[in-house]
Amino acid sequence: MAQVIYLNGKYVTKEEAVVSVYDHGFLYGDGIFEGIRVYGGNIFKCREHLDRLYDSAKSIMLDIPLTQEEMEQALIETIRLNALPDGYIRLIVSRGTGNLGLDPRRCPVASVIIIVEQLAIYPVEAYLNGLKTVSVSTARNIPNALNPKIKSLNYLNNILVKIQANLADVGEAIMLNAQGYVAEGSSDNIFIVKKGTIYTPPCYIGALEGITRAAIMELAEQYGYKLKEEPFTLHDVYVADEVFFTGTAAEVIAVREVDGRVIGSGQAGPVTTHLMEEFRKIVFVDGVQVF
Ligand code: PMP
Repeated sequence: MAQVIYLNGKYVTKEEAVVSVYDHGFLYGDGIFEGIRVYGGNIFKCREHLDRLYDSAKSIMLDIPLTQEEMEQALIETIRLNALPDGYIRLIVSRGTGNLGLDPRRCPVASVIIIVEQLAIYPVEAYLNGLKTVSVSTARNIPNALNPKIKSLNYLNNILVKIQANLADVGEAIMLNAQGYVAEGSSDNIFIVKKGTIYTPPCYIGALEGITRAAIMELAEQYGYKLKEEPFTLHDVYVADEVFFTGTAAEVIAVREVDGRVIGSGQAGPVTTHLMEEFRKIVFVDGVQVF
C-alpha cells in the first residue's frame, strides 16, 4: 500500500509531500517536532506528546493552525490511511514559507506535516546485550540559548553528538551540560542504577522532558524502586551497576560500556530488564486507540 502523508490539511503521496525551499524550517531549523509511536493501534502517550508540542510552540511563539483535538484527529486519520498499527509518527510544525530573512513575521502560516513509517533503530542484538557508548565533547545547549526542553527542529547540536558517536563507532553518546553534569544522549534520556536506587538527571540540567523517561519513572515508582532525580557526573555513570537510555525511537535500551568502562556485568541488568518488560506492556494500552 502506498504511503500517505499529511501535509497542511491534505493527505498526499510521498512524491507530492514537498515543502517550499523558503520554508523557515528548511532555511533556519525554525520549527518544532514530535516523534511518537503506535503500538498495536494505540498512539502511545498521544496527549503527552501533543502537550509537549503545543508547549514548544508557545515557547517559540509559533501558532499551530490546528487545535490539539484537530491535531489528534489528523494523527489518527494518517495512521488509518496508512493502515499501520505498529509504527513511528513524525509530526513536524515549521514556521512556514517566508522570505530569505529570518524574521518569523514573514511566515504567515505554519507548515504541518505528519509522516507515519516503520522504524527499528537498533539491531535486536543491542537490546539483548546493551549498547556501547561514549561521552562527547559537544555540550548540551544551555537553557538560556536554545532551551533543551523545546523539541525544536534545530538538531544540529545533537547531530554533532551523533557524528562523534559515529566516529567512535557507537550507537548513542552521552552529552554533558556546560558545568560537566550528565545531561542526556543525542536523542535519548539517561538513567543509572546504583545499589538499587535509580537516578536520572533533572531536566533543568539540560535534558528534554522525555515522555519515555516519564513513563519509566512512573513504572519505577509503581514497582517500589527508589528513584532520585538529581544531577550526577560521568564518574557516577562509570561506577553504576546499570545504565540505560530511554526514548520513543530507542524505547528502553541498556548500556554495557561507557568510555571503555564495562557497566555492571556487561549486559542488561535486572532493574533495566524489569522496567523494559513492564514498559512493553503499557505501550499497548496507555494512549489513544486508533484501530
Ligand atoms: N532527548 C532528546 C534530545 C530527544 O531527541 C529525545 C527523543 N525525542 C529524547 C530525549 C527522548 O524523549 P521521548 O522519550 O519523549 O522520545
